[in-house]
Parts: sequence; C-alpha cells; structure tokens
Amino acid sequence: MILRNLGEFNLISRISKGMKLSGKVIKGIGDDAAVIKHTKNSYLLFSCDMLLEDRHFKRSSGGYLIGKKALSVNVSDIAAMGGVPEYCVVSLGVPGSLRAKYVDDIYKGIKAVARKFKIDLVGGDTISSKKIIIDIAVLGKVEKKNLALRSDARPGDWIFITGSLGGSLKGRHLDFTPRLKEARFLVNNFKVNAMIDVSDGLLADLGHILEESKKGADIYERCVPVSRDAKDFDSAVRDGEDFELVFTVSKREGGRLIKKWPFKTRLSRIGEICRDKGLYIIRENEKKEKIRPVGYRHF
Ligand code: ADP
Ligand code: MG
Repeated sequence: MILRNLGEFNLISRISKGMKLSGKVIKGIGDDAAVIKHTKNSYLLFSCDMLLEDRHFKRSSGGYLIGKKALSVNVSDIAAMGGVPEYCVVSLGVPGSLRAKYVDDIYKGIKAVARKFKIDLVGGDTISSKKIIIDIAVLGKVEKKNLALRSDARPGDWIFITGSLGGSLKGRHLDFTPRLKEARFLVNNFKVNAMIDVSDGLLADLGHILEESKKGADIYERCVPVSRDAKDFDSAVRDGEDFELVFTVSKREGGRLIKKWPFKTRLSRIGEICRDKGLYIIRENEKKEKIRPVGYRHF
C-alpha cells in the first residue's frame, strides 16, 4: 500500500496502534495537542507542526512571514485546546546557498509571535536541506477545567466559528493571528464542549469533532461566514489553512455567548450537533444535503 492510497489519517492510525502509553498521558494522538498530567489543577499541552517550502509557503514570500506562520500554526493548536503556549523549540532545514539574512528574517518572524504571546524560544536543531523546512514544537499549559477536546460535543450543542472561511491561500494563511485571545475568553467564561482549529477546512475539521465525539451535525449554508477571498461556499468549507476556531457549546451557553462576545473578530453560529451520525448542509433553499467531511489532502 502506498501512502497516497492509504491517506494521512489511516497512516496516523497505523502509527498509533499498539503503543503503550504511561498513565500520565490524558490524550495522545488524535487532538490538536497531546495532554499530559502536570499539577493538581493543570495539564501540559504538547504539539508540533511542520512547514515545507513549496507546499506551505513560497521562498519569495520572505523569511519574516514564513517564521511568523511557523509559530502561529502551533499557537493555533494550543488555543484549540483552551490553553496557553509557553515554550518552543525550532527545527530548521535550510540549503547552504541561502543568505544568512533570510534565516535572520525567519527568526524575526518567529520572535515577533513569541513576544506577542509570551512564548520562550528555548532550543532547536539545524540541518542542511534542499528545501526550507521549519518544524516547531510547543509546550503549553491548560487549567484542567478549561481543557477543550475534540471528543465532547453533545447533541443539541450549537456550533460556532470565529472569523470567516476560505481563500486563505490568497495571503491570509501567511499572515494570520491565531485565535488565542478568543479561545482563552471562551474557556474562561463558558463551558466549551468541543473545539478544534481549522487547518484542513471546516468540513474536515468539524468532521474530526464529529468522529471523536461520535455525533453528527447540521450546518446552515446561510450562516457560514464566507470570506471575500473564497471562490464560493462549497470551496470555502473545504479550503484549508483558515486557522479559525470551530467549537460547540450548549444552547444555553451559546445564547449567553452571543450577548457577551467582546471581540471585533466575527463570531458565527453555523449549526447544531445531532445525536445521529452524518454531516448535513441545509442549503439556502432549505434542501438538506448529506456531505462528506473531506478537505485538504496531504498525500
Ligand atoms: P493538526 O491539524 O491539529 O495539527 P494533525 O491533523 O496534523 O493535527 O494531526 C492529528 C493528530 O495526529 C495529532 O494528534 C498529531 O499529534 C498526530 N500525528 C500527526 N502526524 C503524526 C506522526 N507522524 N506521528 C505521530 N502522531 C502524529
Ligand atoms: Mg489543529
């Protein structure tokens, strides 16, 4: 079997089979970050993300934005757990022919994000490679009561999304602000049942919540915030790299949230969690259509 036929998620489930984890691991493979026992009231969060030249960025975008993106995608995953990032290590693959100034710029980008979110850059590794590769690992923390997994969506929950979706490849994917502030507001003030960040597209990532929670959902086309950069609704819900938060809260919490949301960042209620499995779109003409939760394919 070759990887293209197997697919990313079957590959990951092959990797995760037959692994004996210590009792300290609350959540291993399968969420936006691993969750590990820490203190009486908090867990450690641990996650990494890799960016490869010509796949996730072009060299011509400049080092600064690339460095900024490399750390921001990690912050987004920690935010999706309800936590705060604290430390990072950076592994870098760069060609010998690259100007040192370019690497300086990558680190300017990384450091700008680190400063903004108070993350300490505490190490890394450097190798030479044909294409530029940046892999950042982040260690963070979350209060136990604030942990938001993918697996706890409940029937009747309202589904919300921050910002707008689609067309991020036109530029937003390189220059976005991870929704850490918003996520912290949510978990500190509301009972968030499930949360994920949108990296592979709304349908695919909401699909992860549904799969992990063993639930279904109805999404209302007219409620989904489609970005000006997106081609249309159908591509907006499949495009990746939006780095918005999708989360579910009870109806009661949802009503309170809509009244209290203090940010300029848009907040949209896009649908509802259902007891029966399956993802459905309620089209603008009220027709209900079953839809496959697929988005960006890595292979
Ligand atoms: P995200 O999009 O939130 O970064 P991914 O889709 O990359 O998450 O990964 C899903 C889950 O699979 C995560 O828990 C991640 O840690 C795990 N994972 C991905 N690749 C590997 C790998 N090569 N080895 C072990 N775990 C992996
Ligand atoms: Mg994620």
